Amino acid sequence: MATEVSKITKDYQQVWTNCLSIIRDNIDEQNFQTWFTPIKPIGIEKTTLTLQVPSHMFYEWLEEHYINLLKKVIKKELGELGKLQYRVVMEKKSSNSESQTINLPSNPRQATSNPPINVPIEYYKSGNKDIPAPFVVPGIKKHKIPSNLVESYNFDNYVEGECNRLARTAGYAIAQDPGGTSFNPFFIYSEVGLGKTHLAHAIGLQTKVNFPNKTVSYINADTFYQQFLEAVKTGNRNDFILYYQSIDVLIIDDIEHLGTGNKTATQEAFFHIFNHLHLKKKQIIITSDKSPVDISGFEARLLSRFKWGLTVELTVPDFDTRTKILLKKLENNGINFPEEVITYLALRITSNTRELEGAMIAILAQASLNHRPVTIDLAKEMVDKYVKSTAKEISIEYIQKIIGEYFNVSVEKINSNKRDREVVQPRQICMFFSKKYTKLPLATIGAHCGGKDHATVLHACRTISNLYETDKKMKIYIDEIDKKMKI
Ligand code: ADP
Ligand code: MG
Repeated sequence: MATEVSKITKDYQQVWTNCLSIIRDNIDEQNFQTWFTPIKPIGIEKTTLTLQVPSHMFYEWLEEHYINLLKKVIKKELGELGKLQYRVVMEKKSSNSESQTINLPSNPRQATSNPPINVPIEYYKSGNKDIPAPFVVPGIKKHKIPSNLVESYNFDNYVEGECNRLARTAGYAIAQDPGGTSFNPFFIYSEVGLGKTHLAHAIGLQTKVNFPNKTVSYINADTFYQQFLEAVKTGNRNDFILYYQSIDVLIIDDIEHLGTGNKTATQEAFFHIFNHLHLKKKQIIITSDKSPVDISGFEARLLSRFKWGLTVELTVPDFDTRTKILLKKLENNGINFPEEVITYLALRITSNTRELEGAMIAILAQASLNHRPVTIDLAKEMVDKYVKSTAKEISIEYIQKIIGEYFNVSVEKINSNKRDREVVQPRQICMFFSKKYTKLPLATIGAHCGGKDHATVLHACRTISNLYETDKKMKIYIDEIDKKMKI
């Protein structure tokens, strides 16, 4: 063993190269290039490999998305005791680099704590350290239930937009009077990456601000399930239920996990917890990827309970909100991007806030790695590489911007109801491309192009199609714009 360790000590580069080859086999090439090439191995001590990463956000992204893979490869290369340590080095133009060391596995984000409460339960770290499970110790004991809340996921950082206004307002109201509003349970659903987890945390955190003595606990449904299995295995099923029944604000994230596989027993336990909490006017917050009407794999009695309170959907943020979200993330991390880069990202990455954030972190990493400034060219390069082709949907705002620039008319003019000659055709071309590249209904396209109705949009699209076939100039316009659209 000793010789093995010293051999490793000498060759941290080799260790990391071996890790990379396994990682490469497990993820797609684009993600590999984006998230693993910016990492530099910088040393090894015993069984701890130190990696240099270009920013704190980069490290958080790695932990969120690749923690399991990293743990696996490190254990494979360095044995059971294998560990990773990160050093965040932010290359500042010419001045000294900033360095900060973080150990893995760790929770990079601060968690808010709950006050100790009297429950006959001990928070028990089971054999598998990732899956803490509650269990009973004899007698009453002052006990702290972990909140698992992430400080940065607060309301201040949760940008308001049409996409989340109702959910945000209701969530804020809940935090003023948890369990006391009619929004119980509060059921938030949306596609992935649109802010459910963030909002759920924000409600929890705000509750703690308003009522420091209330016990708030956040749990992912998958962890809840693992804990339940552990509790059953160790004969602590009832205590598991009691534990969750002692919480004032229970947040269950991604409840759809309980609907897959055979999880009837876990659902049953959740049913008991739910009933107790609801009866005691304790707040329940549930998130899901589907509405209670569309979610599958749940017993009818649970489904009907999901609908007792308020159900709200989070939708895709509009351009303005996407821009504000980017600005907020940058501001929180003390980073500046040129305005045109921010606009470009907000225009190009339209369907998923997480991807928007991912692109921003990736650009930053590349800039730091190659000592390049953050420019529009770098952003274009990264968006092409980084954003999955399916997510690379072209937005109506982007179409208008390209066409406005091409014909030298302002987007405001295209959006207005002016009928000047110079704007009528660009507007029709906007409608034509919006129909071609977005999934928006014609009426929505019309609303974005000078408040036209759906018949007008249809007419415009036909006109442009016809001209494309018959008018050489129009053919050139359309082909050139099309090319610009796809850069
Ligand atoms: P979901 O749980 O729906 O998959 P998350 O809550 O994990 O989505 O959000 C993905 C990322 O996008 C997070 O980093 C989150 O902070 C960010 N995000 C989503 N919506 C907003 C918003 N309205 N304001 C600021 N950040 C947001
Ligand atoms: Mg989530």
